Amino acid sequence: MATATTIEDVQVILTQPGGSRLAVVKVLTSEPGLHGLGCATFTQRIHAVAAAVEHHLKPFLIGRDVSRIEEIWQMSMVHGYWRNGPVLNNAISGVDQALWDIKGKQASMPVYDLLGGKCREGANLYVHADGPTPEDVTNRVQEFLDEGYRYIRIQQGLYGGKANSVPRPEGSPEGAYFDPKAYRRDTLAMMEHVRSAVGPDVELLHDVHERLAPADAVLFAQDVEQFRLFFLEDLLAPEDLAWFERVRSQSSTPLAMGELFNHPLEWRTLIERRLVDFIRMHVSQMGGITPARKAADMAHGHGIRTAWHGPGDTSPVGHAANLHLDLWSPAFGVQEWYRPSELEYEMFPGLPEVRNGYLYANAQPGLGIDLDEKLARLHPVQDVVEKWTQARLPDGSPARP
Ligand code: MG
Repeated sequence: MATATTIEDVQVILTQPGGSRLAVVKVLTSEPGLHGLGCATFTQRIHAVAAAVEHHLKPFLIGRDVSRIEEIWQMSMVHGYWRNGPVLNNAISGVDQALWDIKGKQASMPVYDLLGGKCREGANLYVHADGPTPEDVTNRVQEFLDEGYRYIRIQQGLYGGKANSVPRPEGSPEGAYFDPKAYRRDTLAMMEHVRSAVGPDVELLHDVHERLAPADAVLFAQDVEQFRLFFLEDLLAPEDLAWFERVRSQSSTPLAMGELFNHPLEWRTLIERRLVDFIRMHVSQMGGITPARKAADMAHGHGIRTAWHGPGDTSPVGHAANLHLDLWSPAFGVQEWYRPSELEYEMFPGLPEVRNGYLYANAQPGLGIDLDEKLARLHPVQDVVEKWTQARLPDGSPARP
């Protein structure tokens, strides 16, 4: 019997090539030169994830057979008794994606082949058009169309409503204030401008970023129907999922949900009851490729598509993992894309490339991506107290960002 290849070491590499702090897990094996990489990026709590990997997962994983991805995932999730949550799920994802990377290298196959092979050669991407005025957003959309993108998220003032004309109570603290009413008004005017400028064929998307009270969200989904969005994203917060029934019964706007989800019950219920059209979990946040492929299969059985979260605070390794899922899954809808910098392409050799609005994988075994650790060390993480997440409503109340 052949000797099992085992886990020899688990390392966490923290780096910041751009605006986001990134965490990548490297699993080293008993086979010389064989290692895997996985994304464990929870950028706002990056050191907590690193500690979870180094102090809790690593001692548990050393010496285990690398081939047992499923068993390791299941036991990692229950071994701490209390399970789920962004810190633990990201830590487990780092290991999980690295083990898929290793299995691909052992099999001399890309991960999409391990999953069942490609359903498509490239993944349709959507990119973010943002600007202070409807004209600026429209110009940005046109630039993306000229570059070959066909799916474009449109936002005015990022998540909107920043021009807060409502007086604050005296003594209100500083914060990232937004006005839901101004957001709704400005966004509808912007959508009207963009849609009339670009015509009916461009796929437009919009992210509410859970900034509306549920009753206003129901109205907003009706208001945007006329603009025929590809989808409306995060209309409600995870805490308000029960309101999707009412949105669904009163509007035909396609809905996408899920980047903040941690627990399977959060997506399972939405899928089973067909309350959304796209699931878009953050793959490292849900625990890696192992749970994501199950959610994709479950979605497919219910006529729901995937649109995995793909911002700049997913590491390039995580983007590669997203792409392998996209190329394989019959349920794939669209992939969010953040347009990496030249430095990120240099730091992560094999980072997927875009041509004509499609994202392509190389045919390398595993996830097909590596990390230049020397270069990563030249760009250490900068610790700051995040400001944009200190969201407040016009009266100063803390709000969901
Ligand atoms: Mg979003």
